[in-house]
Amino acid sequence: MSDSISKTIKEYASEYQAQHLKELLDFLRIPSVSTDSEHVKDIRIAAQWLETELKQLTFEVEVIETAKHPIVYAEKIVDDSLATVLVYGHYDVQPVDPIELWDSDPFDPIVRDGLIIARGATDDKGQVYAHIKGAEVLLNTDGQLPVNLKFLIEGEEEIGSPNLDSFITDNKEKLAADVVLISDNAMVAPNTPTITYGLKGLSYIEVHVKAASHDLHSGAFGGGVPNPINGLAKMIASLHDEQGRVAVPGFYDAVIDVQPEEREAYKRVPFSETEFAEELSLSATPGEANYSLLERLWARPTLDCNGIAGGFQGEGAKTVIASEAMAKISCRLVPNQDHEEITRMLGDFLKENAPEGLSVEVIDLHGGKPALTPMDSKEVQAAAKALSEVFGQETIFARTGGTIPVVSTFQTELKAGVILVGLGLEDDRAHSPNEKFDLVNYYRGIESSAAVLKALADIK
Ligand SMILES: [Zn+2]
Repeated sequence: MSDSISKTIKEYASEYQAQHLKELLDFLRIPSVSTDSEHVKDIRIAAQWLETELKQLTFEVEVIETAKHPIVYAEKIVDDSLATVLVYGHYDVQPVDPIELWDSDPFDPIVRDGLIIARGATDDKGQVYAHIKGAEVLLNTDGQLPVNLKFLIEGEEEIGSPNLDSFITDNKEKLAADVVLISDNAMVAPNTPTITYGLKGLSYIEVHVKAASHDLHSGAFGGGVPNPINGLAKMIASLHDEQGRVAVPGFYDAVIDVQPEEREAYKRVPFSETEFAEELSLSATPGEANYSLLERLWARPTLDCNGIAGGFQGEGAKTVIASEAMAKISCRLVPNQDHEEITRMLGDFLKENAPEGLSVEVIDLHGGKPALTPMDSKEVQAAAKALSEVFGQETIFARTGGTIPVVSTFQTELKAGVILVGLGLEDDRAHSPNEKFDLVNYYRGIESSAAVLKALADIK
Protein backbone atom coordinates (compact mmCIF):
# COMPACT_ATOMS: atom_id res chain seq x y z
CA MET A 1 0.00 0.00 0.00
CA SER A 2 1.51 3.33 -0.98
CA ASP A 3 1.40 6.21 1.43
CA SER A 4 -0.45 8.57 -0.84
CA ILE A 5 -3.28 6.12 -1.37
CA SER A 6 -3.65 5.27 2.29
CA LYS A 7 -3.79 8.97 3.00
CA THR A 8 -6.58 9.41 0.51
CA ILE A 9 -8.58 6.66 2.21
CA LYS A 10 -7.97 8.34 5.56
CA GLU A 11 -8.89 11.75 4.22
CA TYR A 12 -12.07 10.59 2.55
CA ALA A 13 -13.10 8.53 5.56
CA SER A 14 -12.65 11.44 7.94
CA GLU A 15 -14.33 13.92 5.62
CA TYR A 16 -17.45 11.73 5.43
CA GLN A 17 -17.62 10.69 9.09
CA ALA A 18 -20.80 12.63 9.82
CA GLN A 19 -22.54 11.16 6.81
CA HIS A 20 -21.37 7.62 7.63
CA LEU A 21 -22.65 8.02 11.16
CA LYS A 22 -26.02 9.33 10.05
CA GLU A 23 -26.49 6.34 7.76
CA LEU A 24 -25.59 3.82 10.44
CA LEU A 25 -28.06 5.45 12.84
CA ASP A 26 -30.76 5.09 10.17
CA PHE A 27 -29.92 1.38 9.86
CA LEU A 28 -30.01 0.95 13.64
CA ARG A 29 -33.45 2.55 13.80
CA ILE A 30 -34.96 -0.48 12.03
CA PRO A 31 -36.03 -2.97 14.75
CA SER A 32 -34.99 -6.08 12.82
CA VAL A 33 -35.42 -8.60 15.64
CA SER A 34 -35.32 -12.02 14.02
CA THR A 35 -36.68 -14.03 16.94
CA ASP A 36 -39.94 -12.13 17.15
CA SER A 37 -42.72 -12.71 14.60
CA GLU A 38 -43.98 -9.19 15.35
CA HIS A 39 -40.87 -7.87 13.60
CA VAL A 40 -41.13 -9.86 10.37
CA LYS A 41 -41.93 -6.63 8.52
CA ASP A 42 -38.96 -4.83 10.06
CA ILE A 43 -36.63 -7.62 9.03
CA ARG A 44 -37.77 -7.06 5.46
CA ILE A 45 -37.36 -3.30 5.78
CA ALA A 46 -33.78 -3.82 6.98
CA ALA A 47 -33.03 -6.13 4.04
CA GLN A 48 -34.44 -3.59 1.60
CA TRP A 49 -32.56 -0.78 3.28
CA LEU A 50 -29.32 -2.67 2.67
CA GLU A 51 -30.37 -3.39 -0.89
CA THR A 52 -30.79 0.34 -1.54
CA GLU A 53 -27.45 1.18 0.09
CA LEU A 54 -25.54 -1.42 -1.88
CA LYS A 55 -27.25 -0.50 -5.16
CA GLN A 56 -26.15 3.10 -4.65
CA LEU A 57 -22.61 1.79 -4.54
CA THR A 58 -23.27 0.11 -7.91
CA PHE A 59 -23.34 -3.42 -6.54
CA GLU A 60 -25.62 -5.98 -8.13
CA VAL A 61 -27.98 -6.81 -5.31
CA GLU A 62 -30.47 -9.57 -4.67
CA VAL A 63 -32.77 -10.03 -1.71
CA ILE A 64 -33.10 -13.80 -1.63
CA GLU A 65 -36.00 -15.49 0.11
CA THR A 66 -35.35 -18.37 2.48
CA ALA A 67 -37.82 -20.44 4.52
CA LYS A 68 -37.77 -17.58 7.04
CA HIS A 69 -35.86 -14.31 6.70
CA PRO A 70 -34.25 -13.13 3.46
CA ILE A 71 -30.56 -13.07 2.67
CA VAL A 72 -29.11 -9.92 1.13
CA TYR A 73 -26.53 -10.83 -1.47
CA ALA A 74 -24.51 -8.25 -3.38
CA GLU A 75 -21.54 -8.45 -5.67
CA LYS A 76 -19.27 -6.27 -7.72
CA ILE A 77 -17.01 -8.21 -10.02
CA VAL A 78 -14.13 -6.06 -11.20
CA ASP A 79 -11.81 -8.48 -12.93
CA ASP A 80 -11.55 -12.27 -12.83
CA SER A 81 -7.81 -12.08 -12.34
CA LEU A 82 -8.23 -10.28 -9.02
CA ALA A 83 -8.82 -11.96 -5.68
CA THR A 84 -12.44 -12.32 -4.60
CA VAL A 85 -13.48 -11.42 -1.07
CA LEU A 86 -16.80 -12.37 0.48
CA VAL A 87 -17.88 -10.28 3.45
CA TYR A 88 -20.31 -12.14 5.70
CA GLY A 89 -22.44 -10.46 8.35
CA HIS A 90 -25.99 -10.23 9.63
CA TYR A 91 -28.63 -7.51 9.71
CA ASP A 92 -30.90 -9.14 12.28
CA VAL A 93 -30.57 -8.24 15.96
CA GLN A 94 -31.29 -9.74 19.37
CA PRO A 95 -34.47 -8.89 21.26
CA VAL A 96 -34.20 -5.88 23.59
CA ASP A 97 -35.40 -7.52 26.82
CA PRO A 98 -35.03 -6.60 29.62
CA ILE A 99 -36.10 -3.25 28.17
CA GLU A 100 -36.24 -1.57 31.61
CA LEU A 101 -32.45 -1.85 31.90
CA TRP A 102 -31.85 0.30 28.83
CA ASP A 103 -30.97 3.95 29.51
CA SER A 104 -32.38 4.95 26.12
CA ASP A 105 -34.67 3.52 23.45
CA PRO A 106 -32.79 0.60 21.82
CA PHE A 107 -34.18 1.56 18.41
CA ASP A 108 -33.70 5.29 18.75
CA PRO A 109 -29.90 5.34 18.61
CA ILE A 110 -28.04 8.03 20.49
CA VAL A 111 -24.41 9.08 20.48
CA ARG A 112 -23.11 9.78 23.97
CA ASP A 113 -19.54 10.05 25.27
CA GLY A 114 -18.19 8.77 21.98
CA LEU A 115 -20.46 5.73 21.97
CA ILE A 116 -23.21 4.77 19.56
CA ILE A 117 -25.88 3.21 21.78
CA ALA A 118 -28.55 1.03 20.17
CA ARG A 119 -29.52 -2.60 19.69
CA GLY A 120 -27.34 -3.93 16.86
CA ALA A 121 -24.72 -1.18 17.25
CA THR A 122 -21.90 -3.70 17.41
CA ASP A 123 -23.75 -6.99 16.72
CA ASP A 124 -23.69 -6.83 13.82
CA LYS A 125 -25.13 -3.83 12.01
CA GLY A 126 -22.32 -1.45 12.95
CA GLN A 127 -19.60 -3.90 12.00
CA VAL A 128 -21.14 -5.06 8.73
CA TYR A 129 -21.98 -1.49 7.73
CA ALA A 130 -18.36 -0.48 8.32
CA HIS A 131 -17.45 -2.89 5.51
CA ILE A 132 -20.07 -1.40 3.19
CA LYS A 133 -18.61 2.03 3.88
CA GLY A 134 -15.14 0.58 3.37
CA ALA A 135 -16.20 -0.30 -0.16
CA GLU A 136 -17.60 3.21 -0.62
CA VAL A 137 -14.32 4.75 0.46
CA LEU A 138 -12.41 2.64 -2.06
CA LEU A 139 -14.84 3.39 -4.87
CA ASN A 140 -14.71 7.11 -4.20
CA THR A 141 -10.96 7.37 -3.79
CA ASP A 142 -9.60 4.85 -6.31
CA GLY A 143 -12.61 4.81 -8.60
CA GLN A 144 -12.71 1.03 -8.44
CA LEU A 145 -12.52 -1.80 -5.94
CA PRO A 146 -9.14 -3.54 -5.56
CA VAL A 147 -10.86 -6.95 -5.39
CA ASN A 148 -14.03 -8.62 -6.56
CA LEU A 149 -16.30 -8.01 -3.62
CA LYS A 150 -19.32 -9.98 -2.45
CA PHE A 151 -21.59 -9.34 0.52
CA LEU A 152 -23.60 -12.10 2.15
CA ILE A 153 -25.70 -10.52 4.87
CA GLU A 154 -28.22 -12.78 6.52
CA GLY A 155 -31.26 -12.08 8.69
CA GLU A 156 -31.23 -15.24 10.80
CA GLU A 157 -27.93 -15.23 12.68
CA GLU A 158 -29.54 -14.60 16.04
CA ILE A 159 -31.83 -17.59 15.57
CA GLY A 160 -28.98 -19.96 14.67
CA SER A 161 -28.84 -19.42 10.87
CA PRO A 162 -31.22 -22.28 10.06
CA ASN A 163 -31.14 -21.65 6.30
CA LEU A 164 -27.59 -20.45 5.78
CA ASP A 165 -25.67 -23.71 5.44
CA SER A 166 -27.94 -25.03 2.71
CA PHE A 167 -27.82 -21.65 0.95
CA ILE A 168 -24.02 -21.76 0.88
CA THR A 169 -23.93 -25.38 -0.25
CA ASP A 170 -26.48 -24.69 -3.01
CA ASN A 171 -24.73 -21.54 -4.22
CA LYS A 172 -21.06 -22.44 -4.18
CA GLU A 173 -20.41 -20.88 -7.56
CA LYS A 174 -22.20 -17.64 -6.84
CA LEU A 175 -20.40 -17.30 -3.52
CA ALA A 176 -16.99 -18.50 -4.73
CA ALA A 177 -14.27 -16.50 -3.00
CA ASP A 178 -10.61 -16.66 -2.07
CA VAL A 179 -11.20 -15.12 1.33
CA VAL A 180 -14.20 -14.75 3.59
CA LEU A 181 -14.03 -11.70 5.83
CA ILE A 182 -16.18 -11.58 8.98
CA SER A 183 -16.59 -8.83 11.57
CA ASP A 184 -19.03 -10.11 14.15
CA ASN A 185 -16.72 -10.24 17.15
CA ALA A 186 -14.32 -8.21 19.23
CA MET A 187 -10.68 -7.19 19.21
CA VAL A 188 -8.73 -8.56 22.20
CA ALA A 189 -8.32 -5.12 23.80
CA PRO A 190 -9.09 -1.49 22.92
CA ASN A 191 -6.92 -0.04 20.17
CA THR A 192 -5.50 -3.49 19.44
CA PRO A 193 -6.00 -4.70 15.87
CA THR A 194 -6.86 -8.37 16.07
CA ILE A 195 -7.18 -11.17 13.58
CA THR A 196 -8.95 -14.29 14.75
CA TYR A 197 -7.90 -17.14 12.50
CA GLY A 198 -9.10 -20.24 14.35
CA LEU A 199 -12.24 -21.46 16.07
CA LYS A 200 -12.92 -24.62 17.99
CA GLY A 201 -15.41 -27.32 17.10
CA LEU A 202 -17.64 -29.26 19.43
CA SER A 203 -18.63 -32.78 20.35
CA TYR A 204 -21.42 -33.05 22.91
CA ILE A 205 -22.77 -36.23 24.47
CA GLU A 206 -25.07 -37.36 27.22
CA VAL A 207 -24.19 -40.55 29.06
CA HIS A 208 -26.69 -42.64 31.02
CA VAL A 209 -25.51 -45.27 33.47
CA LYS A 210 -27.94 -47.84 34.85
CA ALA A 211 -27.81 -50.76 37.27
CA ALA A 212 -30.76 -52.20 39.23
CA SER A 213 -34.32 -51.92 37.96
CA HIS A 214 -35.18 -49.49 40.77
CA ASP A 215 -33.61 -47.44 43.58
CA LEU A 216 -32.39 -49.58 46.49
CA HIS A 217 -32.02 -49.20 50.27
CA SER A 218 -28.32 -48.57 50.93
CA GLY A 219 -28.42 -50.45 54.21
CA ALA A 220 -30.03 -53.53 52.76
CA PHE A 221 -28.10 -53.51 49.46
CA GLY A 222 -24.96 -51.39 49.94
CA GLY A 223 -21.82 -53.41 49.29
CA GLY A 224 -23.67 -55.97 47.25
CA VAL A 225 -24.80 -54.03 44.19
CA PRO A 226 -23.22 -51.67 41.66
CA ASN A 227 -23.80 -47.97 42.30
CA PRO A 228 -24.35 -45.97 39.05
CA ILE A 229 -23.32 -42.67 40.65
CA ASN A 230 -20.07 -44.05 42.06
CA GLY A 231 -19.45 -45.70 38.72
CA LEU A 232 -20.20 -42.62 36.63
CA ALA A 233 -17.95 -40.49 38.83
CA LYS A 234 -15.14 -42.95 38.26
CA MET A 235 -15.77 -42.97 34.52
CA ILE A 236 -15.68 -39.17 34.37
CA ALA A 237 -12.50 -39.09 36.45
CA SER A 238 -10.89 -41.54 34.01
CA LEU A 239 -11.30 -39.04 31.15
CA HIS A 240 -8.21 -37.03 32.17
CA ASP A 241 -4.75 -38.20 33.15
CA GLU A 242 -2.49 -36.69 35.81
CA GLN A 243 -1.05 -34.26 33.25
CA GLY A 244 -4.46 -32.77 32.51
CA ARG A 245 -4.51 -34.51 29.16
CA VAL A 246 -7.63 -36.18 27.80
CA ALA A 247 -7.07 -39.90 28.33
CA VAL A 248 -9.31 -41.15 25.53
CA PRO A 249 -7.02 -43.12 23.17
CA GLY A 250 -6.72 -41.42 19.79
CA PHE A 251 -8.17 -38.13 21.05
CA TYR A 252 -5.10 -36.13 19.98
CA ASP A 253 -4.23 -38.12 16.85
CA ALA A 254 -5.62 -35.60 14.34
CA VAL A 255 -4.74 -32.47 16.31
CA ILE A 256 -2.65 -29.83 14.56
CA ASP A 257 -0.42 -28.79 17.42
CA VAL A 258 0.28 -25.18 18.35
CA GLN A 259 2.92 -23.99 15.90
CA PRO A 260 6.09 -22.26 17.13
CA GLU A 261 5.06 -18.99 15.44
CA GLU A 262 1.68 -19.15 17.18
CA ARG A 263 3.39 -19.67 20.51
CA GLU A 264 5.45 -16.53 19.86
CA ALA A 265 2.42 -14.57 18.67
CA TYR A 266 0.36 -15.42 21.77
CA LYS A 267 3.11 -14.02 23.97
CA ARG A 268 2.33 -10.61 22.48
CA VAL A 269 -1.35 -10.76 23.39
CA PRO A 270 -2.24 -8.26 26.12
CA PHE A 271 -3.42 -10.96 28.53
CA SER A 272 -2.59 -11.40 32.18
CA GLU A 273 -3.05 -14.84 33.72
CA THR A 274 -3.22 -13.26 37.17
CA GLU A 275 -5.98 -10.85 36.14
CA PHE A 276 -7.81 -13.66 34.39
CA ALA A 277 -7.78 -15.69 37.62
CA GLU A 278 -8.69 -12.70 39.77
CA GLU A 279 -11.65 -11.73 37.61
CA LEU A 280 -13.04 -15.24 38.04
CA SER A 281 -12.13 -15.48 41.74
CA LEU A 282 -9.96 -18.49 40.99
CA SER A 283 -7.01 -19.63 43.09
CA ALA A 284 -5.50 -21.59 40.20
CA THR A 285 -5.93 -22.15 36.46
CA PRO A 286 -5.04 -25.81 35.94
CA GLY A 287 -5.06 -27.62 32.61
CA GLU A 288 -3.04 -29.60 30.13
CA ALA A 289 0.65 -29.69 31.02
CA ASN A 290 3.21 -27.90 28.82
CA TYR A 291 0.72 -25.42 27.35
CA SER A 292 0.18 -21.84 28.41
CA LEU A 293 -3.24 -20.73 29.54
CA LEU A 294 -3.93 -18.91 26.25
CA GLU A 295 -2.77 -21.90 24.24
CA ARG A 296 -5.16 -24.11 26.17
CA LEU A 297 -8.05 -21.65 25.81
CA TRP A 298 -7.52 -21.07 22.10
CA ALA A 299 -5.62 -23.84 20.45
CA ARG A 300 -5.84 -27.09 22.41
CA PRO A 301 -8.78 -29.48 22.52
CA THR A 302 -10.53 -29.77 25.88
CA LEU A 303 -13.07 -31.98 27.61
CA ASP A 304 -15.49 -30.90 30.30
CA CYS A 305 -18.35 -32.44 32.20
CA ASN A 306 -21.16 -29.89 31.82
CA GLY A 307 -23.78 -31.44 34.06
CA ILE A 308 -24.38 -34.41 36.28
CA ALA A 309 -27.51 -35.87 37.84
CA GLY A 310 -28.56 -38.90 39.81
CA GLY A 311 -29.90 -40.10 43.09
CA PHE A 312 -31.40 -38.18 45.94
CA GLN A 313 -31.28 -34.39 45.50
CA GLY A 314 -33.79 -33.33 48.16
CA GLU A 315 -33.37 -31.89 51.63
CA GLY A 316 -31.86 -34.02 54.37
CA ALA A 317 -30.60 -37.56 54.19
CA LYS A 318 -32.09 -40.40 52.23
CA THR A 319 -30.17 -43.66 52.30
CA VAL A 320 -30.60 -44.81 48.75
CA ILE A 321 -28.60 -46.37 45.95
CA ALA A 322 -29.94 -44.82 42.77
CA SER A 323 -30.71 -47.09 39.86
CA GLU A 324 -29.30 -44.62 37.35
CA ALA A 325 -27.12 -41.56 36.81
CA MET A 326 -26.54 -39.18 33.93
CA ALA A 327 -23.84 -36.78 32.81
CA LYS A 328 -23.46 -34.29 29.98
CA ILE A 329 -19.97 -34.12 28.57
CA SER A 330 -18.57 -31.96 25.81
CA CYS A 331 -15.28 -31.56 24.03
CA ARG A 332 -14.06 -28.40 22.33
CA LEU A 333 -12.14 -29.52 19.30
CA VAL A 334 -9.38 -28.11 17.14
CA PRO A 335 -8.39 -28.86 13.55
CA ASN A 336 -8.26 -31.58 12.28
CA GLN A 337 -10.33 -33.41 14.86
CA ASP A 338 -13.54 -34.82 13.47
CA HIS A 339 -16.45 -34.35 15.86
CA GLU A 340 -18.19 -37.57 14.82
CA GLU A 341 -15.05 -39.59 15.35
CA ILE A 342 -14.37 -37.96 18.72
CA THR A 343 -17.94 -38.61 19.83
CA ARG A 344 -17.54 -42.29 18.94
CA MET A 345 -14.14 -42.59 20.69
CA LEU A 346 -15.47 -40.89 23.79
CA GLY A 347 -18.53 -43.14 23.93
CA ASP A 348 -16.43 -46.29 23.45
CA PHE A 349 -13.99 -45.20 26.14
CA LEU A 350 -16.75 -44.55 28.66
CA LYS A 351 -18.29 -47.94 27.97
CA GLU A 352 -14.94 -49.72 28.28
CA ASN A 353 -14.20 -47.95 31.54
CA ALA A 354 -17.58 -48.56 33.12
CA PRO A 355 -17.30 -50.53 36.36
CA GLU A 356 -18.74 -54.03 36.37
CA GLY A 357 -22.50 -54.35 36.46
CA LEU A 358 -23.36 -51.00 34.92
CA SER A 359 -25.00 -50.54 31.55
CA VAL A 360 -23.96 -47.45 29.65
CA GLU A 361 -25.87 -45.59 26.98
CA VAL A 362 -24.30 -42.70 25.08
CA ILE A 363 -26.39 -40.16 23.19
CA ASP A 364 -24.83 -37.87 20.57
CA LEU A 365 -26.38 -34.48 21.27
CA HIS A 366 -24.60 -32.04 19.05
CA GLY A 367 -21.46 -31.51 17.00
CA GLY A 368 -19.62 -28.75 15.18
CA LYS A 369 -16.50 -28.54 13.08
CA PRO A 370 -13.41 -26.57 14.09
CA ALA A 371 -11.92 -24.09 11.63
CA LEU A 372 -8.48 -22.69 11.03
CA THR A 373 -6.88 -20.46 8.43
CA PRO A 374 -3.15 -20.88 9.03
CA MET A 375 -1.59 -17.88 10.71
CA ASP A 376 1.19 -17.78 8.14
CA SER A 377 -1.21 -17.90 5.17
CA LYS A 378 -1.01 -15.08 2.64
CA GLU A 379 -4.47 -13.74 3.43
CA VAL A 380 -3.96 -13.64 7.20
CA GLN A 381 -0.57 -11.97 6.86
CA ALA A 382 -1.79 -9.42 4.30
CA ALA A 383 -4.79 -8.45 6.41
CA ALA A 384 -2.62 -8.20 9.54
CA LYS A 385 -0.19 -5.85 7.86
CA ALA A 386 -3.01 -3.61 6.66
CA LEU A 387 -4.59 -3.47 10.12
CA SER A 388 -1.28 -2.65 11.75
CA GLU A 389 -0.93 0.34 9.43
CA VAL A 390 -4.42 1.64 10.15
CA PHE A 391 -4.05 1.32 13.93
CA GLY A 392 -0.37 2.20 14.15
CA GLN A 393 -0.15 -0.90 16.36
CA GLU A 394 1.06 -4.40 15.78
CA THR A 395 -1.78 -6.78 14.92
CA ILE A 396 -2.53 -9.50 17.43
CA PHE A 397 -3.20 -13.01 16.19
CA ALA A 398 -5.90 -14.79 18.15
CA ARG A 399 -8.00 -17.88 18.12
CA THR A 400 -11.17 -18.47 20.08
CA GLY A 401 -12.59 -21.39 22.01
CA GLY A 402 -16.02 -20.62 20.63
CA THR A 403 -17.68 -22.21 17.63
CA ILE A 404 -19.21 -20.29 14.71
CA PRO A 405 -20.53 -23.14 12.56
CA VAL A 406 -20.74 -21.07 9.38
CA VAL A 407 -16.98 -20.51 9.43
CA SER A 408 -16.25 -24.18 8.83
CA THR A 409 -19.00 -24.26 6.19
CA PHE A 410 -17.25 -21.43 4.34
CA GLN A 411 -13.96 -23.30 4.59
CA THR A 412 -15.22 -26.66 3.45
CA GLU A 413 -17.76 -25.55 0.83
CA LEU A 414 -15.98 -22.55 -0.69
CA LYS A 415 -12.43 -23.71 0.08
CA ALA A 416 -11.80 -20.15 1.19
CA GLY A 417 -9.60 -18.82 3.94
CA VAL A 418 -11.70 -17.23 6.65
CA ILE A 419 -10.49 -14.18 8.55
CA LEU A 420 -12.31 -12.70 11.51
CA VAL A 421 -11.54 -9.06 12.14
CA GLY A 422 -13.34 -7.95 15.27
CA LEU A 423 -14.07 -4.23 15.03
CA GLY A 424 -15.89 -4.07 18.36
CA LEU A 425 -14.85 -4.61 21.97
CA GLU A 426 -15.62 -7.40 24.45
CA ASP A 427 -17.54 -4.93 26.61
CA ASP A 428 -19.82 -3.71 23.78
CA ARG A 429 -22.73 -5.48 25.53
CA ALA A 430 -23.85 -7.47 22.52
CA HIS A 431 -27.15 -9.20 23.36
CA SER A 432 -27.42 -7.04 26.53
CA PRO A 433 -29.06 -3.73 27.47
CA ASN A 434 -27.25 -0.54 26.36
CA GLU A 435 -25.41 -2.27 23.51
CA LYS A 436 -22.82 0.11 22.10
CA PHE A 437 -20.18 0.58 19.45
CA ASP A 438 -17.42 3.12 20.05
CA LEU A 439 -17.51 5.82 17.41
CA VAL A 440 -13.76 5.52 17.04
CA ASN A 441 -14.13 1.81 16.33
CA TYR A 442 -16.81 2.44 13.72
CA TYR A 443 -14.69 5.01 11.91
CA ARG A 444 -11.56 2.93 12.24
CA GLY A 445 -13.55 -0.08 11.08
CA ILE A 446 -14.35 1.71 7.83
CA GLU A 447 -10.69 2.49 7.26
CA SER A 448 -9.69 -1.02 8.29
CA SER A 449 -12.10 -2.56 5.84
CA ALA A 450 -10.78 -0.44 2.97
CA ALA A 451 -7.17 -1.17 3.93
CA VAL A 452 -7.71 -4.92 4.31
CA LEU A 453 -9.54 -5.21 0.98
CA LYS A 454 -6.69 -3.36 -0.70
CA ALA A 455 -4.14 -5.65 0.92
CA LEU A 456 -6.05 -8.77 -0.12
CA ALA A 457 -5.84 -7.76 -3.77
CA ASP A 458 -2.35 -9.22 -3.91
CA ILE A 459 -2.99 -12.66 -2.50
CA LYS A 460 -4.00 -14.32 -5.73
ZN1 LIG B 1 -23.59 -11.26 15.63
